[in-house]
Amino acid sequence: MRHQLLQQIEKGSKNALMKKRIITHYIYNGNSTITDLAKELDLSIPTVTKFITEMTDEGFINDYGKLETSGGRHPSLYGLNPDSGYFIGVELNRDALNIALINFKGDLIDSKRGIYYHFDNNEKRIDDLVTIIRDYINQLNLDHNKILNINVSIAGRVDPDNGYSYSNYSFEKVSLAEILTKKLSYPVSIDNDTRAIAFGEFMKGAVENEKNIIFINLSWGIGMGIIINGKLYTGKSGFSGEFGHVNTYDNEIICHCGKKGCLETEASGMAFHRILLERIKNGENSILSEQIKANKEITLNQLIDATLREDMLCIEIIEEIGEKLGKQISGLINIFNPELVIIGGALAQTGDYITQPIITSVRKYSLNLVNKDSKITSSKLLDRAGVIGSCMLARSRVFEID
Ligand SMILES: [Zn+2]
Repeated sequence: MRHQLLQQIEKGSKNALMKKRIITHYIYNGNSTITDLAKELDLSIPTVTKFITEMTDEGFINDYGKLETSGGRHPSLYGLNPDSGYFIGVELNRDALNIALINFKGDLIDSKRGIYYHFDNNEKRIDDLVTIIRDYINQLNLDHNKILNINVSIAGRVDPDNGYSYSNYSFEKVSLAEILTKKLSYPVSIDNDTRAIAFGEFMKGAVENEKNIIFINLSWGIGMGIIINGKLYTGKSGFSGEFGHVNTYDNEIICHCGKKGCLETEASGMAFHRILLERIKNGENSILSEQIKANKEITLNQLIDATLREDMLCIEIIEEIGEKLGKQISGLINIFNPELVIIGGALAQTGDYITQPIITSVRKYSLNLVNKDSKITSSKLLDRAGVIGSCMLARSRVFEID
C-alpha cells in the first residue's frame, strides 16, 4: 500500500533522500530551472539533470515549458506534479471530526466537516476514528497509493516526534501514531490540535511574511501555538504552549487538569459557560436564561451565537474574558517579542467583542516599545484552520526543510 518513495526514504536510500530534498525544495519555493535548482541545492548540473529526468519519468516532476530569457538560451522550468502525492488531515473536536485532503502543492482538494464523532477518551473511539478515515479514503476518487501521510490532530499533550498522545487515547505501550498506522495501513502522524491550527493559519491564513508568531487558541480551553523563525516550536517533548494552565488566579476553581487557579478557570469558553450560569442564577438575564433555568445543556456555539445576537450579558462576560486574556497575552509579548499575535479558536468567531478588549488590555499591560512591534490580528481561517493545518502537518512530517 505504502508509496515506494516513502519506503526508500525510510530505508535511508541516498537516491530517495535526494528526491525528497528536491520535492521539499519545490514545495516551499515553487518551480525552477535545473541551473537554479543545482545552485540552491549545491549540486552539479549533471546530477540534478539525472534526478529531474528520473523524477519526471516517475511522475513527480512536470516540465512546465521554456523560460523566456533575454539571452539566447531558453531553459526549461520544472516543478512538482501536484497530483503525484496527497496528504490527509484529521481534526478531532469534542463532538465532531473534520477531515480533508490536500495535494503536493497544498491545494485543498476535498473536505468533509462536522462528521459525528464522540470524543471521550474511550479505547473504542480509536476504532471509530479508523472507520471514519477508512470510509473517507474509500470514497476519494484517486489512486490510494498516492496518499503519502495522514495527520491526526488531537487535544492535550502530544509528542509529534515519537507519536505518543499522553492526555487522550493513551491505552497501550505502543504510540497512538503506530496503532493508527497499523490499523489503517497508511503512515499516520499525530500532533496537538492547537499547533495544527497555528500551522494552518501560518501556511494558509492570516500570516503574510511574519516568521515569529504567537497563536492563541480560544475555545472551550485555551492553547497556544508558537512559531519561531518560521518553524513550529514544540518544546522538548511536544508539551509547549500550555498557556491555559499557567497558574494565574488565587481562586478555588478546580481546572480539568486537576490544579486550581489556571488561566482557563477564568478566561476561556469553559469560564464563559460557568460565569453565565452563575450570573443567571444570581438574577441577571440573557436570551439563554430559560434554557439554563430548565437545566438544558449549553454548548460553546450557543454562547458564541448569543454574543453575536448582541445578548448584553454574554457581551459583558466575553469583554471581561478578553480583558483578562489581554493582560496575560501582554506577558507573552514581553517575553517573545513576536511580530504577530493571532487570536483564533472558536471564541474568535465573536469578532471584535473578544479582540478589542484583548488589544486594549495588551496596550495597557505590555511594555510600550515591545508591544509596538507586535501586530494583533484575528484568525482568517477561523474554524477551517485546524483541518487545513492538520493536512499541512501531514505533508511537513514527510517533506520538511531540515
Ligand atoms: Zn489547568
